[in-house]
Amino acid sequence: MLHTKQDEKIERICSNPECKEIGLYPAPKSRDNLREYLYFCINCIRDFNKSWNYFEGLSENELEVEIRKSVTWDRPSWKFGTKNLNYDFEKAFREFENKKSTHNKKIIDKKLEKALKILGLNSDSNLTEVKTRYKSLAKKWHPDVQNESKSKNKEDKFINITNAYKIILESFTKQTKK
Ligand SMILES: [Zn+2]
Repeated sequence: MLHTKQDEKIERICSNPECKEIGLYPAPKSRDNLREYLYFCINCIRDFNKSWNYFEGLSENELEVEIRKSVTWDRPSWKFGTKNLNYDFEKAFREFENKKSTHNKKIIDKKLEKALKILGLNSDSNLTEVKTRYKSLAKKWHPDVQNESKSKNKEDKFINITNAYKIILESFTKQTKK
């Protein structure tokens, strides 16, 4: 029998490494280890449950009821071992993490794509090409360089180019770390 201290309030942080919310909602670590839990905030447990549902077709209502119970009693209370709760939790959790990182990667890719466009480069450009291009553009658009174009425009353009350059450089650093 699992002993729970009803009056002991433990503040846990959501198990999603990218989330800083309080983890109120338990999910077992794996089917073989139903006594240990990961704790998620409401948003993350929903994401987690989505991947879980995706694999096994868990009834949303059933889950909601169980979650509510576990919160009310301040302890995990999912009925494990019933045929409806025979899920591969580890697989669901892996899928959940993959989805998160794919999502983040897409955001980074978008940023990088935009940055390359600003410098007039493509994703095949090597580091030397990037540096050369930045230098020539920076020279052209540097606010201190005098020519007929308005200096405010030049400043904006120069900032854009420099920011884009930074993003591209970062992507090179990440690649070499892998
Ligand atoms: Zn969370």
